Amino acid sequence: MDISKLKWLDDYAEDLKGKLVLVRADLNVPIETGEITDDFRIISSLPTIEYLSEHGARVVVISHLGRPKGKVKKQFSLEPIAVRLQSYLRKDIIFSDDCIGDGLAKIKAQLSPGQIMLCENLRFHSGETKNTDSFAEALAEQADLFVFDAFGVAHREHASVVGLAAKCPETVGGLLVKKEVLALSRLVAFDRPERLTAILGGAKVSDKIAILNKLIDKADEIIIGGAMAYTFLAAKMEDVGASRVEADRLALARSMLNQCELKNTRVYLPVDHIVSTEFSEQGLNRVVEKNQFKEDEMGLDIGPQTQKMFADVIERSEMVLWNGPMGVFEWDAYAAGTKSIATAMKKADAFTVVGGGDSAAAVLQMGFDRAFSHISTGGGASLSFLEGTPLPGLQMLQQ
Ligand code: AMP
Repeated sequence: MDISKLKWLDDYAEDLKGKLVLVRADLNVPIETGEITDDFRIISSLPTIEYLSEHGARVVVISHLGRPKGKVKKQFSLEPIAVRLQSYLRKDIIFSDDCIGDGLAKIKAQLSPGQIMLCENLRFHSGETKNTDSFAEALAEQADLFVFDAFGVAHREHASVVGLAAKCPETVGGLLVKKEVLALSRLVAFDRPERLTAILGGAKVSDKIAILNKLIDKADEIIIGGAMAYTFLAAKMEDVGASRVEADRLALARSMLNQCELKNTRVYLPVDHIVSTEFSEQGLNRVVEKNQFKEDEMGLDIGPQTQKMFADVIERSEMVLWNGPMGVFEWDAYAAGTKSIATAMKKADAFTVVGGGDSAAAVLQMGFDRAFSHISTGGGASLSFLEGTPLPGLQMLQQ
């Protein structure tokens, strides 16, 4: 994709004053018993909303939250998000209990320049994920401009993404989407002078095949941790005890390691592990070195020697991309590996990017939010972008 051809909000030359602007944001934050537990996506959405309000637009924000599957379910209401937005923006936010309909139409018509309203969950309507024409039409009512700022759903063909772009008089990308596209495209640029280190972790090799294939060409060094490392170690005939190995991916892992060797892409795999005999927080854990697993032991985090080896590679890198935790970071006993990666990235004098999803959740949970050049708000979307898969939410922004 030629990103120089995308249309952005801050290049939009027309006067925004009094225009009804529909903003598709990604306010899909984790909520537990009514409390927002991580508001990174809300904070990331503020610049576009503020920009529009300051330029005198009448701002209508729409978003999804969770997977209510076309039904109104109170636990997926955006109401707590309206309260949080209000406290960050220090402005009254009007909350509408539906994102379409006559009641909403009246409120929209009465909005004054600079005023902001948030509408209830898009996914309370099945037309959202099904991308029905009628739902997109209803959402677009009265809109003069559509601002797409929900990078996290850029890979989805939903009504509030592609459907709306087809129904609104004009569509531009918001400030968050622009920031995401610029940061991620720098990592895979053809003429990139910096050396790139990619760190991949997480649960499964199968989820990361496309990105691995891309990185074999693009990265100079690849670090592999998390459960997926055990499939690679097993492919190298190491004994990994009861660790999670994807038997049907062993041949693929072997072929990827061979390709890396041919292309001079260095691969680093764990040399020691924190293991347990049960998949639980309480399980007795110990450090084991290469081939020292007992039959019933599984690796749940990278060990101290591996942490040091990975950190050394990261600290001398010029660019670092990280996607996927090094262990079961949700449990303190297996969080050290993931934390050591975040610490090394923080120390590195490098352009550092954390892909969305679990690795972003991990660094935010550990309080590292200001330590990186960019933390993506989109898990699947950032992987697809880096893989080079066309994203419908970005294609619609082309001039
Ligand atoms: P992903 O969504 O593919 O990035 O995977 C993230 C999940 O992988 C997290 O929930 C981690 O707890 C899990 N994970 C990471 N390392 C391991 C491991 N060694 N064994 C089992 N699960 C792991």
